[in-house]
Amino acid sequence: MAADTPVTAEALRRQPRFPADFEALTYPQRIDWLQRQLEAADSPVRRYQLVSERAFEHYANGANAEVVVACREVAPQAFHLEYRFVCAAADERDPAGSIQGMLDVHADAMAAGKVNLAVQVLSTAAWVQSAAGDVAGAFRSYEQALSLAEHASPETLNDVTLNTATLYVMHGDREYVQKGVALQVETIARFRKLKAERPDAAAYFDDVIALTQYNAGVAHALHLQDYARALHWFGRLDPRNRELRKSALVFSALSATELGRTSQARAWLAASRAAPASSEMDTAYLACYQELIKAKLNGTAQLAPCRDLAENTPLEVSLDIFKRMADLPQPAWRQAGMERLHGLFVAKLEPQLKQSSMRAASRAELSRLQLESKLNGQLLEKEQALKRAEQDKLRGQRLLTAAVVAILLLVLLVIALRLRHDRRLARQFLSMSVHDGLTGLHNRRHFEHHVEREINLVKRAQQEGTGQSIALCLFDIDHFKRINDSHGHDAGDAVLKQFAQRIKAVTRDSDLLVRWGGEEFLLLARLAHAGESHHIAERIRTVVATQPFTLPDQRVLDVTCTVGAVVYPRAVGGESDVPWQRLVQLADAALYLGKRKGRNCWVCIDNVVDTAALDRILAQDLEISVREGLIVLGDGLEPSGVASA
Ligand code: GH3
Ligand code: MG
Ligand code: MG
Repeated sequence: MAADTPVTAEALRRQPRFPADFEALTYPQRIDWLQRQLEAADSPVRRYQLVSERAFEHYANGANAEVVVACREVAPQAFHLEYRFVCAAADERDPAGSIQGMLDVHADAMAAGKVNLAVQVLSTAAWVQSAAGDVAGAFRSYEQALSLAEHASPETLNDVTLNTATLYVMHGDREYVQKGVALQVETIARFRKLKAERPDAAAYFDDVIALTQYNAGVAHALHLQDYARALHWFGRLDPRNRELRKSALVFSALSATELGRTSQARAWLAASRAAPASSEMDTAYLACYQELIKAKLNGTAQLAPCRDLAENTPLEVSLDIFKRMADLPQPAWRQAGMERLHGLFVAKLEPQLKQSSMRAASRAELSRLQLESKLNGQLLEKEQALKRAEQDKLRGQRLLTAAVVAILLLVLLVIALRLRHDRRLARQFLSMSVHDGLTGLHNRRHFEHHVEREINLVKRAQQEGTGQSIALCLFDIDHFKRINDSHGHDAGDAVLKQFAQRIKAVTRDSDLLVRWGGEEFLLLARLAHAGESHHIAERIRTVVATQPFTLPDQRVLDVTCTVGAVVYPRAVGGESDVPWQRLVQLADAALYLGKRKGRNCWVCIDNVVDTAALDRILAQDLEISVREGLIVLGDGLEPSGVASA
């Protein structure tokens, strides 16, 4: 063999086989033989063959450190899946790398159609995963392995199934423990079938069936606390099974104790003492269980076997023992159990609990998220409903506001209209009350309402020394009765209207002109100077007398009037404190004088010398008072004939 021959599958196959008696050698003898061959090896291929074989030997005997040394000495070739597998599986320092290496080998084995190897690799990977704390990953790998196991050898199937069931029982929650037990039951049925098919391997199948039944019993006793089912499985064990007999008896006694079947428990406990210990399994913990059962049955027992439990006691067993100790009524047991439970928790269970807590947490988180999204949906709906309600409310409020505003506006409008109407009515009433309906001039009421203001103006002017004075003229149509009598009442009305218009035309707007009553009119005029009263009186007489009036029948008629006037305050001797009614009486007296003198003329009292004599003046003829020197008159007397109709 050339020294540089590459290591290929073909080259490896062509290497010389090991001698037939190699199989008969013990593990150390095999290692020894392989070492000697290595020293004589003359090619890389031969070296590779021997070193990889040495690795297989170490792996089969659990010497993983030696496997790692071999793998480092001669690295596995890509084609050599078995060597790659043991190198990956033995690398305990790097679980992640180890698992990944095995999963790679699994993929290549599947591709190469090596199902047995693929399943074995997966099963081992799952074991490492569970040991590394990746319980979920382990579950996944086992389930994948189980799905392939139908195509694998019965041995591989057994291995995978039992590993899976154990993992389920040891690491699972109640649901997974039950799943593990179901898997065990299923496996038992499969083994029975295989045993029937292969009578040559009957002893092997009996062993694995017994082991699985025992495991199912332990699962029920230790994990599910279903002691009746546990007894069912322990009871199926062949009493001749030396390996499991003692353990099964102890756990049967425990189950019977828990079920209150004390006599049966005592019997099984006694039998367990007599049964020989297992040669393969380290079951020192059974001594503790025996004491636990005694403690429960008799009340007295030895604490030591439980307190000093061996280091290598399986976790599920330690946990179960400590829990049972902590549950006992005896304080010493109780305290020891609690202490050990705490130690176990800190040392081993915490990481696992975290793992399962995380799983539980993730499940809880999922449910929480679902609930939250549901809640969110409900909240959203509620929020939207609230918003809708609010909008409705707002819309309602707006409508209400609008309605209220509209109603208010309507009310205001009605009030406004009403007010306007009332005001118009009031104005009408007022107008009616101060106007004369026939002539359109103001009436007596209007005069009475305003005369005080005019008098006060004069009084104030007097006090201020400005010498303001007014003239009060009362005039009356001459022989009006005759007009009515001769031409009818309507003609009289027409004359009255025309008369008013003519007077109005010759007076100022500031003058106060009213129809005093019947065919009498009263004018209050502010005087620019003393003699103006005569002009005003004359203007009135003239505007009536110089032009004939037109009657409704278009006939014309000459009309005259007589004016009686009084000047204030000079007319009352400078005395301003005279009631206006006195002034009207004086004007009336002057008018009366004018009538007597022949009508169509004016008489004006220019001055009342003695105001104290007013009553006397009013009581007698003005001409007498003139003669007595009580008053001074100015007059514009026309020939009486002019005024006559
Ligand atoms: P004198 O020259 O003295 O004033 O004589 P007169 O006829 O005018 O005086 P008298 O007071 O006796 O008559 C006034 C008449 O005026 C009496 C009355 O019927 C009439 N009269 C009063 N008011 C009205 C009116 O509104 N329309 C009409 N057509 N006649 C009226
Ligand atoms: Mg008259
Ligand atoms: Mg008259």
